[in-house]
Amino acid sequence: MGDLTIISWDDFSRLTLTEKRPYLARPEGDGMPYHTLFAQQFDRELLERLCTLANRIRFINKSKEGALYLKNVLAHKRAMLYFSQPSSRTFLSHLAACQILGITTGSVRDAATSSEFKGESHEDSIRTFSSYFDMIIMRSPEQGLAEKMAWELSNSERPVPILNAGSGKDQHPTQALLDIYTLLRSFETKGGVDGRTITFCGDLLRGRTVRSLSYLLTNFRDVKQIFVAPDALQVPDDVIGILKEKGVKYEIGSDLKAATRVSDAVYMTRIQDEWDRSKGESAKIDTSRFKFGAEELALLGKDAIIMHPLPRRDEIALCCDHDPRAMYWRQMRNGMWIRAALIASVFGFERKIMDCGY
Ligand code: ASP
Repeated sequence: MGDLTIISWDDFSRLTLTEKRPYLARPEGDGMPYHTLFAQQFDRELLERLCTLANRIRFINKSKEGALYLKNVLAHKRAMLYFSQPSSRTFLSHLAACQILGITTGSVRDAATSSEFKGESHEDSIRTFSSYFDMIIMRSPEQGLAEKMAWELSNSERPVPILNAGSGKDQHPTQALLDIYTLLRSFETKGGVDGRTITFCGDLLRGRTVRSLSYLLTNFRDVKQIFVAPDALQVPDDVIGILKEKGVKYEIGSDLKAATRVSDAVYMTRIQDEWDRSKGESAKIDTSRFKFGAEELALLGKDAIIMHPLPRRDEIALCCDHDPRAMYWRQMRNGMWIRAALIASVFGFERKIMDCGY
């Protein structure tokens, strides 16, 4: 059962992510997170529960009566969207998820419009938000900030849950949830996700969605992960360390065509040049072999899918967009449903929605 008040920040910050998990769970003991900070908080049982709830919300929302029922579920709650890093889909899909559940929202998308511009610390700003809102959905370029805020808030007079909508180069747990939801839906009638081969391609070094999804995939049996990237952008050691520890099969390479032939899903990512240490650093890397185009499409299995967390630049050619295996647009919409499922669960409404008469 989660309780961040029984551990000091210093002791908490020294724990491994898996050790941190129980401190972040809902105190009610239903296994769902209270603070959602990283992928290590989700095991298979939880993933399947969330995806089932997302499907249920999706279904209920189809009728006007059902949609109105959902709009009442959390009409007594307010959420703050605090995004101090650019975002389109993550911001809008969290907003839409809140709207589906009737949650009133407020937002700050630019620290220049908040008191941070006057020198207020993140800590003070977030404590301010918690005075007016019941949940904080936050994106920050700072790795670990969401975690620190979760601890601070849990130890304040007005604890409210934090939902990490992307932290630095580190984690993007809700993107990984929507990726898993997309994989489960895509392979639902085709034997499921166990035993599949997933290729990650692009900037695997700085892509936070890759770190989070690679971890979530370890919850499935016999899933092989292939990492295709230029040497300078290959998947970092901590991700590989987890795969080794869990005995997950993986391959590191640079041949997208070869990987495409054997993959059930190819997960493309953009070059994350906002993290360049010097101007134009990424532009010097030859990324030409790490793009998915007509030739790769011709090699892709008939039931395999192409995924991308978006935004895309040129790493997936436009000619792929209308192929039924291009899953990135549906993946984006799946984000709204799984985020609605997660938010409803954080507030303890999983059973109520699952068991409602719609
Ligand atoms: N939208 C994803 C993220 O926020 C992927 C990306 O930006 O390339 O990490």
